[in-house]
Amino acid sequence: MDSDLVRQWLRNAASSIRANRDYLTQLDAAIGDADHGVNMSRGFSEVADTVGAFDRDATPGRLLVLAGQTLFSAVGGASGALWGFALQRAGRALGETPELDRHSLPVIVSEALAGVIELGAALEGDKTMVDALAPAARALEEQIASGATIFAAVKAAHERAEAGVRATVPLLARRGRAFYLRERSIGHQDPGATSTALIVAALEPVFLNVA
Ligand code: ADP
Ligand code: MG
Repeated sequence: MDSDLVRQWLRNAASSIRANRDYLTQLDAAIGDADHGVNMSRGFSEVADTVGAFDRDATPGRLLVLAGQTLFSAVGGASGALWGFALQRAGRALGETPELDRHSLPVIVSEALAGVIELGAALEGDKTMVDALAPAARALEEQIASGATIFAAVKAAHERAEAGVRATVPLLARRGRAFYLRERSIGHQDPGATSTALIVAALEPVFLNVA
């Protein structure tokens, strides 16, 4: 893994979020203010452009910090600040290392999760993006520790993130705008968890042929 893999990941995430923009906005229309698809799509498109144009020799860590800063300033909503903070924290955790090994991916996702929690203070079960990101981080850690290929680990992380998304439906929201709906938030899938699963899924094609 090197900075080109990080670029590919962010580009895949941008196109997947763009393709699901209206769906994400519909989910946010039910329990928020109907801007999640627009926020994430604009933010990740800008990220893809920015990292694509950045210094070819940039380290993976610097690219992630840049991506986080871009999201933070490009998106007004909570999701831009949370993912912006998350990617900056993941990038800083990598330091200046140019080459990443199989243990780098669990670090990236776990640090991103720690960033979301540091800024947003949500627990698992609060019906937020944490409900997708936390099980994904756990799956990556377990799989890599047990000797699985990176692709198998990423695939497991994607599956667990999807399960986390589905599990948000019956939950009562305890963070974000949906919190103000109280019982009326029950029965709706969380938009931020949904886009988070797309971002995790965007790792899959990148590591298709990486042991
Ligand atoms: P806004 O709520 O400002 O309009 P978005 O619509 O882009 O921002 O994002 C909403 C999503 O952000 C929610 O679906 C939820 O997953 C996530 N979110 C909101 N607040 C928090 C928080 N404190 N911690 C984690 N995730 C949060
Ligand atoms: Mg919103």
